[in-house]
Amino acid sequence: MHEIVVNLHMHTRYSDGTGTHRDIARAALQAGLDAVIVTDHNVWVQGLEGYYRQGSQRVLLLVGEEVHDQRREPQKNHVLVFGAGRDMASFADDPQSLLDAVRGAGGLAFLAHIHDPEQPAVHEPDISWVDWSVQGFTGVELWNGMSEFKGLLKTRLHALFYAYFPELIARGPYPQAIQKWDELLLDGKRPVAIGGSDAHALHASLGPLRRTLFPYEFHFAAINTHLLLPAPLSGDLTADRRLILEAFSAGHAFIGYDLPASTRGFRFSAQGKGIRAVMGDEIQAAGALTLQAHLPALAHECRLIKDGRPIRVWKRAQACTHIASAPGVYRFEAYRRAWGRLRAWIFSNPIYIR
Ligand SMILES: [Zn+2]
Ligand SMILES: [Zn+2]
Repeated sequence: MHEIVVNLHMHTRYSDGTGTHRDIARAALQAGLDAVIVTDHNVWVQGLEGYYRQGSQRVLLLVGEEVHDQRREPQKNHVLVFGAGRDMASFADDPQSLLDAVRGAGGLAFLAHIHDPEQPAVHEPDISWVDWSVQGFTGVELWNGMSEFKGLLKTRLHALFYAYFPELIARGPYPQAIQKWDELLLDGKRPVAIGGSDAHALHASLGPLRRTLFPYEFHFAAINTHLLLPAPLSGDLTADRRLILEAFSAGHAFIGYDLPASTRGFRFSAQGKGIRAVMGDEIQAAGALTLQAHLPALAHECRLIKDGRPIRVWKRAQACTHIASAPGVYRFEAYRRAWGRLRAWIFSNPIYIR
């Protein structure tokens, strides 16, 4: 399969970001990404999708939308919409109608920053997902760069500190988000986990100090979603958009925190008699299967999770193998030591053995 690196969930001047689509494309080219998905708040911006080029390099820019009810207080329940091909903001006041409309339009819906607690020091409200009665969403944004940052802002000074040392921010998805994802998986659902940057490139100032908080370039080198495609991107917008949406939908994806070390090349698969499955696949197995994880570099800790519980832990590993003799939902996590602590590095989507 062909791996591509996608950065998703970001804002431009069309909502509350500071950059343009062209700025984003430029930053994505610089970061060596294959694709970016721009999702402005409650506006679907038309006419800017396509390949952007610089020299022999190209990056595919897709335009989705982040929809939520702006009259709700606090403004919880944000949905990332990809590939609907039309504006979905008119459905914002009811999450279930919104999800139904997105599906009806052939699009994908991911519940955004599912755990995003309030931060009184910077007057930020809790904007977690709360309406868990909804059905028919593609997946959840398990790891969101901005909500994690927000969680660290005990004072305004913290914002300034992290603006200068952004590599110290990311530690991993919120445990509450992981727990919720595992609950949904245990419930028999197959929510695809994605990682988003929620990039805004906000301008911040404290006294005489001025700085762009996390330029797009920084996000693009950090929390990415890696997709496994059946064929390489061809350069044709319509065909490539379809390949990407299908990979998201199938969960042929993992979240890679590419800043400490590139996660390109990570694979999690299952092999058995006449069976070969990758992340996102559901398989029926009569006998035992071999689960294999290959890492592109050394991980300081790896965990194999079955039905929400760690069943194997490896220390300092680059290849991990486990014989799975029982059905279950198996997923893989890898951690790397960087900037003084163990940080989440890779979160695979599950392989479903039934
Ligand atoms: Zn949001
Ligand atoms: Zn956002």
